[in-house]
Amino acid sequence: MYFDPMYWLVIGLGMALSLWAQFKVKRTFSKYSQRATSSRLTGADVARRILAAHGIRDVTVEPVPGDLSDHYDPRTKTLRLSEPVYGSSSMAAFGVAAHEVGHAIQHAEKYAPLGFRSAWVPVANLGGGLSMLVIMGAFFMGGASTALGSQLGLLGVLLFATTTVFTLVTLPVEFDASRRALATLERGGFVSGTELDGAKKVLDAAAMTYVAAFVSSLLTLLYWAWQLGLVGGSRDDR
Ligand SMILES: [Zn+2]
Repeated sequence: MYFDPMYWLVIGLGMALSLWAQFKVKRTFSKYSQRATSSRLTGADVARRILAAHGIRDVTVEPVPGDLSDHYDPRTKTLRLSEPVYGSSSMAAFGVAAHEVGHAIQHAEKYAPLGFRSAWVPVANLGGGLSMLVIMGAFFMGGASTALGSQLGLLGVLLFATTTVFTLVTLPVEFDASRRALATLERGGFVSGTELDGAKKVLDAAAMTYVAAFVSSLLTLLYWAWQLGLVGGSRDDR
């Protein structure tokens, strides 16, 4: 099947989509990193103030090396901001800092999609890891043309689906964090209207990388389901 042009089309499409989204987020972030807000605060200050305003006192804000490496770690309750965000008062820095605080607030409020996503990580890791072995096994056993091949194929596709579910449940988590971020930036008076617009553009671009990951995973899932005769009729002619 590695000679199947359809396989390379699906994989290539998914990769092109992800690369385009990553390029776009880098470009948008770099553009709005150059646009300063009129605030004297830094990304770290903004993060600490929003946390305090939500009564969250047990989350530590610290710098982390790298670009776009910002994240909230729920296990240690640490909010790590990349250097271009931590000490900067740009529109991009405020958007990203407020977004990461959004995740800390989701965690504090026990936002259900975040809880599900965290619990699903080991499932997706195991499922994704095993899926290719099982799918290869299914082809080895004759694919859709034999009973064992079809059963293994179904199992492999279900295992792969655990990773697609992970990319899907990531979407509400990320969209909600950005929605909270923009609302708090505005309500807290951290930014003016045009400054908020810059922060929004950065967060929208970042959201596209998660959409791209989901679409790419879904395409791959559909490809295997199709190859193994689970959707779109029999592939016995192969
Ligand atoms: Zn996020």
